[in-house]
Amino acid sequence: MPNTTQPVRGRFAPSPSGRMHLGNIFCAIICWLSARSAGGSLVLRIEDLDTLRCTKQNAAVLIDDLRWLGLDWDEGPDIGGPNFPYYQSDRFDIYAEKLAMLEEKGLVYPCFCSRAEIHAANAPHFSDGSVVYAGTCRHLSAEELAEKSKKRAPALRLVVPDREYHYVDGHYGPGGENLAQNCGDFILRRSDGVYAYQLCVIVDDILMGVNQVVRGRDLLGSIPRQNYLYELLGAPTPQYFHIPMLVAPDGRRLSKREADLDLGELRSRYPSPEVIIGRLAHRCGLLEREEPISAQELLPLFDWSKLSKEDIVIRPGDF
Ligand code: GLU
Repeated sequence: MPNTTQPVRGRFAPSPSGRMHLGNIFCAIICWLSARSAGGSLVLRIEDLDTLRCTKQNAAVLIDDLRWLGLDWDEGPDIGGPNFPYYQSDRFDIYAEKLAMLEEKGLVYPCFCSRAEIHAANAPHFSDGSVVYAGTCRHLSAEELAEKSKKRAPALRLVVPDREYHYVDGHYGPGGENLAQNCGDFILRRSDGVYAYQLCVIVDDILMGVNQVVRGRDLLGSIPRQNYLYELLGAPTPQYFHIPMLVAPDGRRLSKREADLDLGELRSRYPSPEVIIGRLAHRCGLLEREEPISAQELLPLFDWSKLSKEDIVIRPGDF
């Protein structure tokens, strides 16, 4: 059960795979408003597991962009804190240790299946292209294991139970799924040795004492897997608040492809962030009238009940 008696402790967990865009800013602002309006604290953690795309240089720009927006945090890579380090790329030893704990429980196994094999052999296919992994490698014999190990490095998967994991999202309400039937054993470490997002985010949120998670609703479907990991690691689950996505008129979610909406472009167009924040706040339901406003001024107006549940359409020329 979420622990709601403690003071709120939120986090920004951006991935510096390029310049932030409008959708990332929206998420950072709501995350900050939610924690600060409850008198809570915030951690900035840089999610740079993909060390090829996520550079320290991008992270430095990202931190500067967050500051430009008028946001602040109590711990982070630029200011330090008791939960150091704040770059996931500096935390691999910690992930290895937690993975070993799960291995000791007998819940982790090597999987040699390629992506193509998994898609060919497993049904059903979901609309996002993912499949339920049928557990092909779960019961390999010692000989099969030795044979397959000669050909390729394995990923590591976590055995999931045949059980429903229900949750109540603070914004979107109840949901849930049966992990074995709707998700399947999922990856904790990829075959190239990179630790998976699902493992790292939970390990870090636990160690950093995070009890409020605010992020895009594209991650709503991760809650059952993540709550299972909380259970295995013996920690209380946080309160989740998912937020609507910013989408293009055709419904496609805004991404780093819309380079005209990245913060480099926006900062050259707007000398200060108030117009951007005011327009976003109006579009998402927090401000009745569109007017320039700072994050600080928006703080007393913040209320989860005002925030739209519908995705927010951004048309060309809106910003
Ligand atoms: N690092 C993830 C992202 O940038 C966010 C993960 C999370 O909030 O759980 O999409």
